[in-house]
Amino acid sequence: MPRAVTERARTDFAADIRDSTAPMAQDEMIAALQDYDAVMPTLGDAFSAEIFAAVPRPRCRLLANFGVGYNHIDAEAARAAGIAVTNTPGAVTDATADIALTLILMAARRAGEGERLVRSGQWEGWNPTQMLGCHVSGKRLGIVGMGRIGQAIARRCHFGFGLQVSYIARSEKTLDFPATRADSVQALAEAVDFLVVAVPGGAETRHMINADVLAAMQPHAVLVNIARGEVIHEAALIDALAQGAIGAAGLDVYEFEPQVPSDLRAMENVVLLPHLGTATEEVRSAMGHMALDNVAALADGRDLPNPV
Ligand code: NAP
Repeated sequence: MPRAVTERARTDFAADIRDSTAPMAQDEMIAALQDYDAVMPTLGDAFSAEIFAAVPRPRCRLLANFGVGYNHIDAEAARAAGIAVTNTPGAVTDATADIALTLILMAARRAGEGERLVRSGQWEGWNPTQMLGCHVSGKRLGIVGMGRIGQAIARRCHFGFGLQVSYIARSEKTLDFPATRADSVQALAEAVDFLVVAVPGGAETRHMINADVLAAMQPHAVLVNIARGEVIHEAALIDALAQGAIGAAGLDVYEFEPQVPSDLRAMENVVLLPHLGTATEEVRSAMGHMALDNVAALADGRDLPNPV
């Protein structure tokens, strides 16, 4: 946790803070449910149904997740065990949308490849047809999941780059910019130059971007994922890129994170970031404070501000 968050946790609560940044082991998660009133887990801390089943009478009343995505927690099993789950919506939105724009621009304009060329010392200088990429302004953007982050991406793309926005979501949206709702992810994939994934992870969205959706995309189109790796069938993505079925990809998240397949790492037309979505000091502090606000509400017997 950023220092301000750690300090507040120690000041306001009897807090134990793990030194390791590795995901919690099963025995740690079980002990955490037994020994603490509240736990602040994060990405990778896999609070599955088995973990809750292993602690019949938990002391824990709250998993205050550090992050908006909570697909690593079986929220139903937590509820059944009498444990509330909260997350940190909103705090992450702009920073994650910024990373989506970074990936769109880098993938379209071959920025990773260009940087590698300069660093290699092999760059021979400007010429009229050197490293021609895909023009971004005025193109068509498809958002898979028009929630907080999806809308922040669409807003940046519409107002900043004049992109025409289409989307899918479970429900129709009232938006402050023009956008059309597609009938299916397949129809959206067919119609756009940039397809950006912004749905939550979990069973419902796992492999939503599969071989059929990738085949529907146009050969020049760019796929960007800032959501969760499991939403894209990664093996199918590698095939699609290898066969030229799509033009490029920009990824912040991976199906088997932190493992990134060597096939992806070898492709020049793939931009690979190490899950940087919310990685700024301000945002990580805001996330930590939001998680602590939920712990404070539990301690005071108030309604939890951010239940999932
Ligand atoms: P959100 O506001 O809940 O938005 C999710 C959107 O996905 C909603 O529009 C929802 O539709 C749509 N959706 C959900 N299930 C769907 C389905 N089966 N089919 C079609 N659309 C579906 O969440 P958010 O705050 O934007 O965050 C989105 C996700 O981004 C998080 O869950 C997290 O996993 C990920 N994330 C990643 C990073 C990173 O570091 N890369 C950082 C932050 C978040 P409705 O509106 O109709 O319900």
